[in-house]
Amino acid sequence: MTARLIDGKAVAATLRAEVAEKVRAAGFTPGLAVVLVGEDPASSVYVRTKDRAAREAGIDARTIRLPADTSRTDLLGVIQALNDDAAIDGILVQLPLPNGIDAQAVIEAIDPAKDVDGFHPVNVGHLANGRPTLVPCTPLGVMKLLRVTGIETSGARAVVLGRSAIVGRPMAALLLTADATVTIAHSRTRDLPAQCRGADIVIAAVGRPEMVSGDWIKPGATVIDVGINRLPDGRLVGDVAFESCREVAGAITPVPGGVGPMTVACLLENTLTAALRRR
Ligand code: NDP
Repeated sequence: MTARLIDGKAVAATLRAEVAEKVRAAGFTPGLAVVLVGEDPASSVYVRTKDRAAREAGIDARTIRLPADTSRTDLLGVIQALNDDAAIDGILVQLPLPNGIDAQAVIEAIDPAKDVDGFHPVNVGHLANGRPTLVPCTPLGVMKLLRVTGIETSGARAVVLGRSAIVGRPMAALLLTADATVTIAHSRTRDLPAQCRGADIVIAAVGRPEMVSGDWIKPGATVIDVGINRLPDGRLVGDVAFESCREVAGAITPVPGGVGPMTVACLLENTLTAALRRR
C-alpha cells in the first residue's frame, strides 16, 4: 500500500484565498503586528514569509524590528502600545527571543483578544477546557488537514509525539476536543514504537530527523509530520522517515509542503478571526 499524499501547500493556498475573500467582504482592513527582536536568520525568514502572506490576503501587516539588546521594559512597552492601537487586531512576537528576555512574560503582556499565536494563558486555558478561542497556528493547521482529507478523529486513537506548548500540548487538546482518544508521548515515554503502532493517527513533533519509521506505523494509519529539520547536507526533512512510512500509512504529509504552509495560512485566519471579534 502506498499512502495518499496530503498536499498541505494546496490546502493552505485554498485557505489563504478564503481568508483574502473574507477580508474583502469585511469592509475594514485587519491589522497584524509581527515583533522581531534580534537578527536570528531563521526567524527573519519566518517573519518575512508571514508579512508577505498577510499582505497578499489584504491584511495590513507591520513588522516591528527591535535590536537584540532591547530591554524587557522596552519590549513590554512596545506590546502595550500595540495592545492600545485600535488598528491592530493581531500581535505576534516571533520566538525564540534573545537570551535574557523571559518569553512567557512577553506572551502574557499581549492582549488575549489579539493573541493570534494562541500562546497567552487565557487562550491556552480555553483550549484546555475544550472551548478553543485563538488556537496555536500549527496544530490548528493539522486539524484542518485531517478534516480536508476526510480523516475521522471521533473515536480514533491518536498519538502525539512531543509535548511542547507550541505544538504537542495544543495538538493533543484539539484532538481531544475532536473526540479522539489521545496519548501524548515525549522523551521519557517507554517504547514509542509500540505506542505508535496502536494509533490510527500519529502526529510527529519532536524535532528529531526521520525518527518515526515505517515499522512504527499501523497499516492504513494517518501520519502527520510537523518536524522541520535541516540536515548537515542541507536537505530539509521531517520527524518521519517519509519513504518507509509511506509504504504502510493510509495518508501522510510530506516535508516540505505539508504542515508548514498551513501554519502561515492559519495565522492569517486567526488574524481575521480576532479582527471580526474585536470590531
Ligand atoms: P520542542 O523541542 O519544543 O519539543 C520537542 C518535544 O519532543 C519535547 O516534548 C520532547 O520531549 C520530545 N522529544 C524530543 N526527543 C524525543 C525522543 N527521542 N523521543 C520522544 N520524544 C522526544 O519542539 P517543538 O514542539 O517546538 O517543534 C517540534 C518540531 O516541529 C521541530 O522539528 C520544529 O522545527 C517543528 N515545527 C514546525 C512547525 C511548522 O510550522 N511545521 C512549527 C513549529 C515547530 P521532552 O518534553 O521530554 O523534552
